[in-house]
Amino acid sequence: MRWSQTYIPTLRENQSDAELVSHQLLLRGGYIRKLASGIYIYLPLMQRVIDKFSNIVREEMNAAGALEITMSVLCPVEVWQKSGRYDTVGKELMTMQDRHNHEMILCGTHEETVTNLVAGELKSYKQLPLNLYQIQVKFRDEIRPRFGLMRGREFVMKDAYTFDATEESQKVSYQKMVDAYFKIFNRAGLEVLKVDSDSGAMGGSNAHEFMFMVDTNAGEETILYCTDCLYAANEEKAIFKDVNKPNIEAVRVDTEIVDTPGAASIEEVSEFLKVQPNQLVKTLIFMADEKPVVALVRGDRSVNETKLKNAVSAVELEPANAEQVEALTKAPVGFAGPVGLKDVTIIVDPLVAEMKNFIVGANQNEKHILNVNIDRDFKATQIFEITNTEKGDGCPKCYSKLEAKSGIEVGNTFMLGTKYSKTLGAKFLDADGKEQLMIMGSYGIGITRTPQAALEKFSDENGIIWPIGLAPYHVEIIPLNVKDEEIVAAADKLYADLNEAGVDVLLDDRSERAGVKFNDADLIGIPVRVTIGAKSLKDGKVEVKLRSSDEIDKIDLETVVEHLKNVIQTLK
Ligand code: ATP
Ligand code: MG
Repeated sequence: MRWSQTYIPTLRENQSDAELVSHQLLLRGGYIRKLASGIYIYLPLMQRVIDKFSNIVREEMNAAGALEITMSVLCPVEVWQKSGRYDTVGKELMTMQDRHNHEMILCGTHEETVTNLVAGELKSYKQLPLNLYQIQVKFRDEIRPRFGLMRGREFVMKDAYTFDATEESQKVSYQKMVDAYFKIFNRAGLEVLKVDSDSGAMGGSNAHEFMFMVDTNAGEETILYCTDCLYAANEEKAIFKDVNKPNIEAVRVDTEIVDTPGAASIEEVSEFLKVQPNQLVKTLIFMADEKPVVALVRGDRSVNETKLKNAVSAVELEPANAEQVEALTKAPVGFAGPVGLKDVTIIVDPLVAEMKNFIVGANQNEKHILNVNIDRDFKATQIFEITNTEKGDGCPKCYSKLEAKSGIEVGNTFMLGTKYSKTLGAKFLDADGKEQLMIMGSYGIGITRTPQAALEKFSDENGIIWPIGLAPYHVEIIPLNVKDEEIVAAADKLYADLNEAGVDVLLDDRSERAGVKFNDADLIGIPVRVTIGAKSLKDGKVEVKLRSSDEIDKIDLETVVEHLKNVIQTLK
């Protein structure tokens, strides 16, 4: 492709609405443009990146025996009502009305559509296992669309669905996808960590996330992992062995209300009362589907909102605002406690449940209660693990210390069991002629998220450094002076030869200053740059430079095509 004939609108200035380096680079490199919050247009360079990644995904999925199909974006609401998800997905679900006022789902995932397809079509165990996948646009009205393509409201996903007759066969189908995922991310140049995303069930876990670990603030997920036994889990699922148990006095003593003037936070109260934070209990108030929920965690810990959401089976959960807190506790924010609260769900973490004589807010301004005891002074609606696991906590498997790192979820795999086949009637006859439910799995990869995620690692202060597998072009040719006929002729010939040799090549044929071309080349991040200038051309040579290195090699024009082909082979 000639630069003059494509559309690469690079920008000099940093864009104010992009927090992340990767988002900034995609905007500045002329890869994407925003239409609305979480909605982006993929320009020619981005389209090529998407195609490159999609092709890797497609090749590995096909090699693993999966069959590509394309399902409709729209799905009649009834199918989602049947599965029960119409009521549980919450506000993320996007819908539209057709001209007959019939509500349609703009699918954010396709379990319903694919199960509905298979139900009634596949009747015999002989037709199983089956793996159907697609690469397609998805819609989700994300609560916080941000970070460019990382969390969009419209984005592209590869989603695959497996149907098996037996548990053993489903395990094989699942493992094939896990193996394919490692090959896919490896070919794309991303090292990924497969982490447990199953709630608590150690060992026979049934869901995994594929995390691309980064050192930047782009990692929306925190992964807790153990370097000794290789336990690794998403923060939302990670459990731990407590290494900071408070000394618990065996005898319960009477409660006492004390004044804590000016002390509201855990630090302030523990300092004022001269106690350790782990002798206090934090009372946090949330709104779960518009009803207040009280969460109790130990003073030195924090609550994990996903765990809490699971505890109360809420669709939407968010921290209560000051008004909502005051309405419930009849006290200003900072003095909430469980004692005396009526008609409200109280979720107590097991670390709190084992405490005695602890300190909580008194639901009165600037007052706390000492020596509070569960059951005697208030009742828990439910005891449920809601504490955030943190770096330094004990590994749940081997008691060693957990480490924490942030990561970007680029893919995931789920064993779904019979949830969808049951509700949507996906049954088959087994070898004995008995009717059985199909056992399902679902497997996602973020087609637009993954390339952006890669840039959180593969860039420098000048721009993008694409891994070869995702690069929109392998080679960029820069003729330094497009008024010099010899240079132009050499550039044109090399361009034609590389195209012929099947190398993806971009020729910057613009009549711009060399500095502008070099800056743009660094910004858009093509892995190999070939510069053609008058001086070296006199000796029959061109300059070859990798985007990832400062070294420049002078290579004979005669052999440069072979040389470049070899270089591309070795690049990751
Ligand atoms: P997350 O926890 O990041 O919201 P998810 O659990 O909702 O992800 P899935 O529904 O399983 O993810 O989707 C499969 C893959 O699609 C994810 O692993 C991710 O790579 C990608 N993905 C999910 N949501 C988005 C989004 N809003 N924008 C871009 N990519 C997304
Ligand atoms: Mg999500």
